[in-house]
Amino acid sequence: MPELPEVEVTRRGIAPQLAGRVISGVSVREPRLRWPVPKEVHRLAGRTVRAVRRRGKYLLLDCGDGHLILHLGMSGSLRVLPHGTPAQKHDHFDLLLGDRLLRLRDPRRFGAVLWTTADIDGHPLLAHLGVEPLSRALQPAHLHRLTRAHRAAIKQFLMDGRRIVGVGNIYANESLFRARINPRRPANRLSLAQCENLSRQIKRTLQAAIRAGGSSLRDYVGADGAAGYFQQRYWVYDRAGQKCRRCGALIRKISQGQRSTYYCPTCQR
Ligand SMILES: [Zn+2]
Repeated sequence: MPELPEVEVTRRGIAPQLAGRVISGVSVREPRLRWPVPKEVHRLAGRTVRAVRRRGKYLLLDCGDGHLILHLGMSGSLRVLPHGTPAQKHDHFDLLLGDRLLRLRDPRRFGAVLWTTADIDGHPLLAHLGVEPLSRALQPAHLHRLTRAHRAAIKQFLMDGRRIVGVGNIYANESLFRARINPRRPANRLSLAQCENLSRQIKRTLQAAIRAGGSSLRDYVGADGAAGYFQQRYWVYDRAGQKCRRCGALIRKISQGQRSTYYCPTCQR
């Protein structure tokens, strides 16, 4: 599933190719995505894409008087292709931009294409999203404050998109290892120093993933159809029973909120 780093790399890949371009039309081959593609998208022609932003895992194409909201769902990918490139199976939506097009391929159809002219921050899909982990808003003191009311485990706190958006299971596991914090520790028991370390490690973990994806950027938005999920070397994620890369102890796996948690019992006390 595309996580925040894949979505951010997608944004960085498509933004320079879209910004300032005039929309010449759309092509909807399959409107039955996670939600039906609204008919209003057929009236987008003539608008200019001013900027491509991201909120959580949503990509927002700012068209001046409204936003096209795109989500990659479970299996989606976006590519910029020359005008007239034949569509293949699962290529459900094109945004036409003169000599090029932005194409959504989504085999499982959990992705989304939506249009809104209302205030974007107040959109029902976005209004409840928590702080952006890569933004300056995620400061140690802010994380410390956010965690005070939460007796639940810090791992589950990190997975709650209403608090911090888009960390996801892989990056929650990896960030907690790097910060040497036990994933079961109650969130409100973290010290300010631990919050300082954790906020730094969340940013580093996500930035490292974005860098790993950045090197495969051409493939990601290229014509080969590769979804481009990043190959990474993890500290703990999906490594149950294997030796900790730092201390050699065996990585443990537990279940928290129906998601798998991996941690080193020695490094993360
Ligand atoms: Zn260890």
